[in-house]
Amino acid sequence: MRIFLLCLLVVAAVAAHAGWVAPGAKTEPPEVSWPGRIPAADSRGIDVLRYELTIDLVALPPQTPWIEGTAVVRVRYLDPAPDVLRLDLVDDLTVSEVRRGLSSTPFIQTGDSLTVNVPLASPGNRETFTITYAGSPPRHGPLYAGLLLRQRDNAGPPTVGNVSQPYSSHGWFPCKDHPGDKATLAMTVTAADTLTVSATGRLLGTDDLPGGRRTWRWDSEFPVATYLVGLLVSEYETWSEDCVGFPLVFHAFSEHVDAARVTYAPTCDMMKWLEDLAGPFPFIGEKYAQAEFAWGGAMENQTVTAFGQASLTLPERSAHLVTVHELAHHWFGNSLTPRDWRDIWLNEGFARYVELLWREHTEGAEAYRDYLHLLNRDDLFVGDGLLGDPDPVLPNSMVYDKGAWVVHMLRLHVGDAAFFRFLHDYATDHDLTYQHTDRQAMTDAASIAAGEDLAPFFAPWLDTEAVPELGLRWRPLAADDRRILVEVVQHQESPFFPLTVPVRVHAGLEVVDLKLRMDDRIAGIEVATTAPVDSVLLDPDDLVLNRTALTPAPRILAAQPRPNPSVGATHLSFWLAGADRVSADVYDMGGRLVYRADLGALPATGEGAPHVWTWQGNGRDDRRAPAGVYWLVLYTSDDRTVRKATLVR
Ligand SMILES: [Zn+2]
Repeated sequence: MRIFLLCLLVVAAVAAHAGWVAPGAKTEPPEVSWPGRIPAADSRGIDVLRYELTIDLVALPPQTPWIEGTAVVRVRYLDPAPDVLRLDLVDDLTVSEVRRGLSSTPFIQTGDSLTVNVPLASPGNRETFTITYAGSPPRHGPLYAGLLLRQRDNAGPPTVGNVSQPYSSHGWFPCKDHPGDKATLAMTVTAADTLTVSATGRLLGTDDLPGGRRTWRWDSEFPVATYLVGLLVSEYETWSEDCVGFPLVFHAFSEHVDAARVTYAPTCDMMKWLEDLAGPFPFIGEKYAQAEFAWGGAMENQTVTAFGQASLTLPERSAHLVTVHELAHHWFGNSLTPRDWRDIWLNEGFARYVELLWREHTEGAEAYRDYLHLLNRDDLFVGDGLLGDPDPVLPNSMVYDKGAWVVHMLRLHVGDAAFFRFLHDYATDHDLTYQHTDRQAMTDAASIAAGEDLAPFFAPWLDTEAVPELGLRWRPLAADDRRILVEVVQHQESPFFPLTVPVRVHAGLEVVDLKLRMDDRIAGIEVATTAPVDSVLLDPDDLVLNRTALTPAPRILAAQPRPNPSVGATHLSFWLAGADRVSADVYDMGGRLVYRADLGALPATGEGAPHVWTWQGNGRDDRRAPAGVYWLVLYTSDDRTVRKATLVR
């Protein structure tokens, strides 16, 4: 008999992946102290409507870098209007003048703030401030980045590129450096005419200047968050491609052109595939460029992804994941921008999940699973902080990898049809596109697509570091094991995880794959097979982020009564896991106790010959019980087993 053979799948520890470079991850740890988190709610009494940046790259390495800029910042005052306009700007960049409208106005530049008294500001009014500044942009923020002005390989031509996430834009231009305030943008950039300037938006034109210099005029009519303002400059090899009428532009250093052509090659395929998945490319009418710069990771600057040379020259499969990750951000991050960085996983978790989908699309389900398992560290993200409020927001691989796992498990829970409807509807929701998203908005979109409230699904993943501890148990419902009851149990104390868990039943040559939905701590399902069941596996493909718990085997199990129906005596064979005291009750269909017996202390049977108890078909008064259906219940000290028997007279 196989009754006591409970097959528990121990989740194999995923192979360590030391040395593996997380695609799309922003690398290079901070080397400077970060002055602190910018508050989540940071309205400052203003809504920035537009930035018009004019930046002259006066000197680039090997010279000491020097930029001169003006920033025209148009704001609308909120209610209540502020007394002081406060913008962010590092003090490495020195402000020489602030004009309010046409007039110079006093200002104070201290620390990373530029403040101007605005005593007559009133709600709803709009004003324009023009800030003139100059200096050498520092490496800045938790990624030790900002505007990076370097030489290629420390000796070649100059290269400029920026990684401003999460708030290092004020390392190179004055702004309200907060993801919750988007504005339209114009960038006019002057550099040596040997250099190509690629920036956010649409190229309006170039103007040649005396002295071998050239000005590039870029403009974006789409709102852009400050951290997504992109500026990439170098002596590039540039080529382009028409992608169903939309321009793709590629820039790479001459020494990496061959690698770049491979890395960029599937961009149009990815664009078309993403449009099927998530709706039209949001920044239609502009362009999509990818430009190399001297750094490790990549950054999804709006319509001009900055591609670190280390990412660009990865092996093809990995490099393509970076390509699709940064492109995916144009839906998940650039169009739907988190209102504050607490929700950064809505950027990074979704972009990483798109990497998984790309693997599935191009290489199949097994490649998807392999990649998923690569993201599952041995610690199951326990001890990494809260996905719903990460600290730090960057660098923090948890927001990528656990984020992608949660999106994956949402798909498992609601099914493919609802999941892909959600992705599309969320990314094209007119209340969200080009604006902001947050946990509530994403949850609402998912709930609508699935037709159920998914807030309880997300809560334990976002608000705790816990993981479900899953156990499996099963037992035959028929004497020949062709009908079994499978139960999955959550053993962790708290919280409860609403989940859907795959279960696989092997019965001879037959394999039955089930999805068991857990709306409670114990979820069960009856399975019928054509052959006796050999084994039952919990989460056989490791698709659930969980720890496998050993569920105690039942202490007592009974076979089906024989004979059944019976005209008198009914025999019940049963097995005991350990020596125990056993009693028996018989109930009629109305739940009335008909008969009770003490079977006494009995030895364990293990898998050997069973004990047999015989009910003679009598009641407690020893008279024959009437014909009918009865429940036969056998009890040990801490378990029980129930069988149904029919008595005919
Ligand atoms: Zn990303």
